[in-house]
Amino acid sequence: MTDRLHPRTRMIHDGSDRRAFGEMSEALYLTQGFAYASAEEAEARFDGSDPGFVYARYGNPTVAMFEERLASLEGAEACFATASGMAAMNAAMFSQLKAGDHVVAARALFGSCHFIIDTLLPRFGVETTLVDGTDLDQWRAAVRDGTVLCFLETPSNPTLEIIDIAGVAEIAHTAGAKLVVDNVFATPCYQRPLELGADMVMYSTTKHIDGQGRCLGGALLASAETIRGPVLEYMKHTGAAMSPFNAWVMLKGLETLYLRCDAQARSAEAIARFLAGDGRVKRALYPALPDHPQHSLAMAQMDRGGTVVALELADKRAAFGFLNALEIAKISNNLGDAKTIATHPPTTTHQRLTEEDRLSLGITQGLIRLSVGLEAEEDLIADIARGLAAV
Ligand SMILES: *Cc1c(COP(=O)(O)O)cnc(C)c1O
Repeated sequence: MTDRLHPRTRMIHDGSDRRAFGEMSEALYLTQGFAYASAEEAEARFDGSDPGFVYARYGNPTVAMFEERLASLEGAEACFATASGMAAMNAAMFSQLKAGDHVVAARALFGSCHFIIDTLLPRFGVETTLVDGTDLDQWRAAVRDGTVLCFLETPSNPTLEIIDIAGVAEIAHTAGAKLVVDNVFATPCYQRPLELGADMVMYSTTKHIDGQGRCLGGALLASAETIRGPVLEYMKHTGAAMSPFNAWVMLKGLETLYLRCDAQARSAEAIARFLAGDGRVKRALYPALPDHPQHSLAMAQMDRGGTVVALELADKRAAFGFLNALEIAKISNNLGDAKTIATHPPTTTHQRLTEEDRLSLGITQGLIRLSVGLEAEEDLIADIARGLAAV
């Protein structure tokens, strides 16, 4: 559809490929393979002169509908959907890098992204440098000849630090490197890194795009040259394609993405304000709160603060007391679900790090991450008040 339409409209219709029955809802093509009308057609599919489908590891009609709809939202030329967010991150790295290359990344990353950068890439001869992502001078000092990729996540997990995407993109480009952004926390509704100069965006569609805690999925978005070139080649031969069923769930998720994120972000902001006004809370972290350390940068590159709030209580005992008193919010480690989720990062998602590393990332024993869901705002605030009363 035309770019003049609001993304909320495009998310209902873009990518739809109506076939035999004029079906209203997108068809689920649960098929691995495709039959060719003739030997000549098979030959043409394989030499690329006929762009039709060949095998579900390379592409599938339902997956293609999802890819087109997400590319439309992101303003990207092309998209490749993957089996999980980590499959997308893995492909972003391994489709671009070879031994001897150098990568610079922000230190505050989703745990498994940190593992790929800090442990896996060096095993294959790729040198990596981790920096404080919020400090542009550290990026400037870290890039050098041979830097091929820069990687960051903003807002970061779980302390919601904001990194200047345009600033890092410029530094990366000056060094001849590409910038990859993990845009999961911001969602494609509220932050479009490609418009800010990033070269590639990755999602865990497991989060807000599914939005109801059902399927794993991921996506990489970039120029057609990158996606149809190195990314397609890597994915084709290594196999972490998105299943057609999951793509169908994600397509339907995109139809309600704005509605859900807007409702969740509205509640998240109300919860953040409530927390900020409570004496038992040492810090309430939310990018749209004026006292967030990078509030103005956040509001310059994001349309809203997102759906995640972090709060800091006195210590682990207070954090556990809070969590165990919650009745609506569930203790879990996912995010972007319709159900509100409360996480204690130091003992779960970030347990693997040393206490020293955790503290350097601002992950104290009193820290709690709240992924705000779709429940009524007043019920969530009452639940949080119940948690605070138990501190
Ligand atoms: C969940 C998540 C991932 C990994 O996605 P999976 O779908 O779980 O593989 C990567 N980055 C961020 C920021 C995430 O929240």
